[in-house]
Amino acid sequence: KLDTPDEVRWIARTLEEAGYDTWAVGGAVRDGLRGARTADWDFATLARPNQVRRLFRKTVPLGIDHGTVGVLDRKGVMHEVTTFRKDVDTDGRHAVISFADRIEDDLARRDFTINALAWHPLREVLLDPYDGRGDLEAGVLRTVGVPEERFAEDYLRVLRALRFAGRFDLRIHPDTWAALVASAPELVRLSPERIREELVKVLGGTAPPSRALALYRASGATEVVYPELHALDDALWERTLAVVDALSPASEWLRMAALLAPVGHPDPRADEPSPDDVRGLRAADPIAARAVVRAMAVLSRLRVSNRQLDQVSGWVAEGLEPPVLETGAERRRWLARVGPERLDGYLRLWQARHRVDPSLADPAPLARALREEVAAGPPLKVGDLAVTGRDLIALGHRPGPWFGEVLEGLLELVLDDPARNERDELMPILTERAARAAGSA
Ligand code: ATP
Ligand code: MG
Repeated sequence: KLDTPDEVRWIARTLEEAGYDTWAVGGAVRDGLRGARTADWDFATLARPNQVRRLFRKTVPLGIDHGTVGVLDRKGVMHEVTTFRKDVDTDGRHAVISFADRIEDDLARRDFTINALAWHPLREVLLDPYDGRGDLEAGVLRTVGVPEERFAEDYLRVLRALRFAGRFDLRIHPDTWAALVASAPELVRLSPERIREELVKVLGGTAPPSRALALYRASGATEVVYPELHALDDALWERTLAVVDALSPASEWLRMAALLAPVGHPDPRADEPSPDDVRGLRAADPIAARAVVRAMAVLSRLRVSNRQLDQVSGWVAEGLEPPVLETGAERRRWLARVGPERLDGYLRLWQARHRVDPSLADPAPLARALREEVAAGPPLKVGDLAVTGRDLIALGHRPGPWFGEVLEGLLELVLDDPARNERDELMPILTERAARAAGSA
């Protein structure tokens, strides 16, 4: 028997009283049977989307074509209410669906037995035509119906199988596994966005991502969708997964950086762009530079946002091991190069790497020193200087590209000694250098 929140019963009652058969489905039922509480209840109903919308005061059209309406419960929490559907056709990229009259049809189109459960919140009966509950108890993941057919309808189910198996630590049934492995080459047909969303869910999950990712490799999926990761040797791959696991699920993009950081190995291939082509990013060493090139290739293929691309490639550019920075000047130069806003990410990457390999130098002292450095608020960029381009104009110079170069030169001085960042100190130097630069410009 499932612990059913009042709001869930209220939504079901509203629909049932209007004459529409309504069931709780999907993750909430599965997780409830596993003894995990969830706030995320979805419904399947006989009511068509416009009928659902008429019955509730607050609704959101989430995907009317797919039959999904967002319904706000009395506490303002949104639930997906989807009209019963059945599969009618497929192109391998998506199953093509139409509305159905029976919950049984709706369960038949679901991917895995553990996801094909329905719970009636009012009658309190469990509908479980494929023994999903038995599979859950036995720790088995298997498709609803013939695995080859179910994967061929929608190849995303291959990646979903790997994710669910990792998430709940399930064994994939041998027949499902054989079909999954045979289907892996067809993953090329999926849209990059769907492939990316699967990976982001693996990385953002509370279960260790290494479980699903190990299955990605064992099944051949990695070779198809992430060849850059497939190229890693076994030892490096294992270590990479351990570092990913050691990071928090709350930062899935940091985990992405940990996953991609080693792709600078192995050696360069003849046909790839040289790291010199990476503009605006200075990497720690040639392997890190190659890693940035390859990581950016992966990320742009996955169509991640520019913001995430910049963020992740910035982390990848430094590798996972802390630099040796002995003096304040070295630390400030490093901060100026990577940007202090990325510091927290680096510290967490180094810690995770260190936890996996405690024989490496402990990053804690460097972390402390860098934090102190940032807290002191030293000038780290041209904009922080006590003098500006306006001073050059006031000295009678006409703006040109050399303005930037002269100011960069002054930044070097104050990175070495932040105390020199005073107008009285910098103006004479600026005046002299500007005269020289203007003369040769
Ligand atoms: P989560 O807790 O991650 O949301 P979930 O089981 O609710 O888990 P969703 O991706 O939200 O997963 O999907 C909801 C339900 O819809 C699944 O339980 C499954 O029954 C069905 N489903 C989702 N995607 C597919 C698919 N590609 N093929 C078949 N059924 C699917
Ligand atoms: Mg869900």
